[in-house]
Amino acid sequence: MAIALRTLDDGAWISVNDSREVGVSDIWALPTREFCSCETPHVLLEAYSAVHVSDHRVLADAVGMCIECGTRDSIDSLPVGRIVDGEFKPYEPAGVQSTIPDAVDGAARSSFEPVE
Ligand SMILES: [Zn+2]
Repeated sequence: MAIALRTLDDGAWISVNDSREVGVSDIWALPTREFCSCETPHVLLEAYSAVHVSDHRVLADAVGMCIECGTRDSIDSLPVGRIVDGEFKPYEPAGVQSTIPDAVDGAARSSFEPVE
């Protein structure tokens, strides 16, 4: 089953099979990327520029800004979800953010969960 991926609304959404699935305005931690000089950049996404699938993972190119130091840059191939049995399963930004230093308990971490 083919998965139709595209960006909509000037990059505000990633559309999967004509359904808006992943929006901007979530904050993603990028622990392994050299986005800025922060130890763990927390990046507020502003727009998606492209989306593609690689090895069942949905990867998006995006533009975002680090909420700690203000660096604004592009992000290549941010994993935003995966394809399981022909269905899109989004990654939770909160899950990616498990390395936030000052989020030492679940309560602090849960405040980063995206609004449905
Ligand atoms: Zn930063």
